[in-house]
Amino acid sequence: MSLVMIGLEIHAQITVLESKLFCSCRGNYRDLRPNTNICETCCGLPGTLPIINKKAIQYSTMTSIALGCKVPDKIMFYRKNYFYPDLPKNFQITQYNVYGFSSIGAEGSFELDDSKKIRISRIQLEEDPGRINYLEGGMNVRNSALIDYNRAGVALIEIVTEPDFTNPKEVRLFLNKLSLTLEHLGVCNTLMEGSVRCDVNVSMKGGNKVEIKNINSFKEVEKAINYEITRQTSMYNRNIKIESETRHWDDKKKITYKSRSKEEEHDYRYFPEPDIPIIVLGDNFVSNLKVHMPELPSQRFDRFVSKYKLSEHISDILINDKKLADFFESTLKIYFSPVEIANFLITEFKSMIEDDSDSTDYLRNMKVKPEHIAELVKMIEGNKISRITAKDILVKIFESGLLPSEIVNNTNSFKIADEKILMDAVQSVFDTEKSAVEDAKTNHEAINFLLGKVMKFTNGRADPKIAMRLINNKLKKPNA
Ligand SMILES: [Zn+2]
Repeated sequence: MSLVMIGLEIHAQITVLESKLFCSCRGNYRDLRPNTNICETCCGLPGTLPIINKKAIQYSTMTSIALGCKVPDKIMFYRKNYFYPDLPKNFQITQYNVYGFSSIGAEGSFELDDSKKIRISRIQLEEDPGRINYLEGGMNVRNSALIDYNRAGVALIEIVTEPDFTNPKEVRLFLNKLSLTLEHLGVCNTLMEGSVRCDVNVSMKGGNKVEIKNINSFKEVEKAINYEITRQTSMYNRNIKIESETRHWDDKKKITYKSRSKEEEHDYRYFPEPDIPIIVLGDNFVSNLKVHMPELPSQRFDRFVSKYKLSEHISDILINDKKLADFFESTLKIYFSPVEIANFLITEFKSMIEDDSDSTDYLRNMKVKPEHIAELVKMIEGNKISRITAKDILVKIFESGLLPSEIVNNTNSFKIADEKILMDAVQSVFDTEKSAVEDAKTNHEAINFLLGKVMKFTNGRADPKIAMRLINNKLKKPNA
């Protein structure tokens, strides 16, 4: 048995919105005391009416366009009925594709790589439920839980794919590309806690579909799928029937466990939401949005290659980290040297921030700003400091937030181009590295070794071109 079919249901909050989907409570519920971001509407008290957030329709439509979906002329909402403590109304307002109506997007496709596309079956706009806190020990251990409705009613985009993935790596690639797209559209800050969640369904050839719910970060998805494939393969090999069921991912124990038998669609008793009329999007809505839509990652990639003359490899690294790509472009506005700045950012700069790059706003909270990098690169190109010195200065900027010119002045670390000073350094290296000097007369590698020693001797401040010339001269005329 080899054929694995994997489909995804991704829930992405529209984190850019100020307010919830149907009321004026705050869209960003994080860091608030439990049940302080609620009102009669999002708690579903009798007599309240939902008022749709127009921007949520715009952002979900942009997402549909970016994922190659058809956007209908008019949309409507449905009630999905189920009882669960996190759902104060006992139904969720969502969308449903019936009676000739479709959700905000349908029948799309998203390019995974040059050889494969993933079909998107639908995209719908819906409200997020509240949150249940099972306290320590989790839902299988505790017999009580706390409920926080601050999140209830936050606008959510559900993206449902066809089961077109055949392995976890494809899923990871897709989720990375999807995150980038959502970030570029400005729809969702995917690094915010709980802003993207994923349900995965996995079936092995001929077997039933098993759904894994509650995977709270894209990073965990690959692990959950790997676990599930192993579990199902083992059952198959022992001739145990794989039941259609819903399982949960335990991200501490790294296992899936059975949670409840899966509801069928008809269990939800979908019916049209009577309190929201049919919304006619109008002929110009989609075409207008297309004109004003932010640049997508693929378009940005093309621009980086053509306008800035960056290599595809470097463009790819930058665009895969939207915040770094934004930082790069802000730096260019101050000093336009795209190739040098891009190189500096993805080598020296990125190596220093790697540890923090998972946090939501690692660039905003840093002391290093585009003006620092612009000035630093300008000094390298103007031959004022060496590349080695630039690295040291960068470390000092990270610590102090001072401008490179201030640090260079304070530490007197201008590049040494004075031939007299450099000659003294060369002489000193020649005195101590006698065997390397002999070697260097026939071996080019040894010349580089001597240059390295001169750089070290000058704390990285020597102008390497001049130092190299002096070394070569001295090798030819040892007593000059
Ligand atoms: Zn509310």
